[in-house]
Amino acid sequence: VRSLSQGTALMERARAVIPNGMYGHESVGLLPEGYPQFFAKARGARLWDADGNEYIDYMCAFGPNLFGYGQPEIEAAADAQRALGDTMTGPAEAMIAFAEAMVAQVSHADWAMFCKNGTDATSMAIATARAHTGRGKILVGRGAYHGASGWATQRSSRGLMPEDKAHVIHFRYNDAESLADAARQAGDDLAGILVTPFRHEIFQDQFLPDPEFLQLARQICDRTEALLIVDDVRAGFRLDRDCSIEQFGVSPDLSCWGKAIANGQPISALLGVEKARQAAGSIVATGSFWFSAVPMAAGVATMRKIRETDYLEHTIAMGQALRDGLQQQAAAHGFTLRQTGPAQMPQILFEEDPDFRLGYAWVVEALDRGVYLSPYHNMFLCAALTEADIRLTLDRTDDAFAALKAKRDTVRPLEKIQPLVAAIRAANR
Ligand code: PMP
Repeated sequence: VRSLSQGTALMERARAVIPNGMYGHESVGLLPEGYPQFFAKARGARLWDADGNEYIDYMCAFGPNLFGYGQPEIEAAADAQRALGDTMTGPAEAMIAFAEAMVAQVSHADWAMFCKNGTDATSMAIATARAHTGRGKILVGRGAYHGASGWATQRSSRGLMPEDKAHVIHFRYNDAESLADAARQAGDDLAGILVTPFRHEIFQDQFLPDPEFLQLARQICDRTEALLIVDDVRAGFRLDRDCSIEQFGVSPDLSCWGKAIANGQPISALLGVEKARQAAGSIVATGSFWFSAVPMAAGVATMRKIRETDYLEHTIAMGQALRDGLQQQAAAHGFTLRQTGPAQMPQILFEEDPDFRLGYAWVVEALDRGVYLSPYHNMFLCAALTEADIRLTLDRTDDAFAALKAKRDTVRPLEKIQPLVAAIRAANR
């Protein structure tokens, strides 16, 4: 049995000095009882919580861990730069080297600007589109997550004003009719269309973009001279070594990056085509830590590994092996899974589980056996996972399915998530 006493003590300390003890996407607020909030250590594909419990980690810090926590070559590059200087009065050469590496890696990109979080990159993208066109309206997928700024938030409006999103028009992802409609609403004030490379929303099946939908977005932008923006913050370099939508035959004008581009070092980026360079150079874009050199040096080393290793093929193969194994196990225990999205960024939901009780109970059984999964958010695999890790994971998930089967009739739904589940369902109608 896992001990959680240290974690419980930490949560008590946290509540005294941090609102709710924790906030944001890494809060365990939407997770079932038993998920550790604080971690002591991370290495490769593994995490240790404050009580020393070890987990094979399928969340990768919600994306940043691409090559394994503490990947030695990337850490060495970061350490070497740290010894020289990090946050200085101006940037280091590493900034240019990282921009060169990203521009070389991403086919549509002619220039790069760096910032800190994904929200910075998406906010700079819409500012660039507005500066480029001299117009105001941005089309955004309904329910899509593009960051924590007022213009981007869709689920909670606490602390925000309706004016924050006055110039955002929502469309239904993959629905050409709905996109065309949103463009009509924007009329001659259309500045840009913002899309994620696939649909990856919480509590829902994921789906890949319909090429016709992406092509329509491209055509609308070509016709109106608005900018097509891809938010690759979550999926960037996990689907492709290029911008994620290139594989669907569409090239954007701007792309937003973050999370994995420096394997966990804090940095994000806005990349763009030549025609948007001048506008990008004209917007207000800065921050105290944006020009720190250590994440840039880590980014250069990360780009080298993206170029020179088979990390992508390996991670996809690990994801497929996990997916195939889980599908068989679920069937053997009398469950049906809906495993959607790319295998290396899987969403795993249970069929006939409208209140998510089965999925929530199953992940706790897996957690108790040392496998960290999410019951509502897409997961992330890293390149440090080995075939042995996948076998070990599957041994444990098999036991988790057996335990779930044994208590199937007594599992209760988690009440606190039901209002959110209902709201998401209503928004999708
Ligand atoms: N866009 C997407 C698609 C994301 O997944 C996220 C983060 N989950 C963001 C933007 C915002 O990034 P950040 O949290 O680094 O501001």
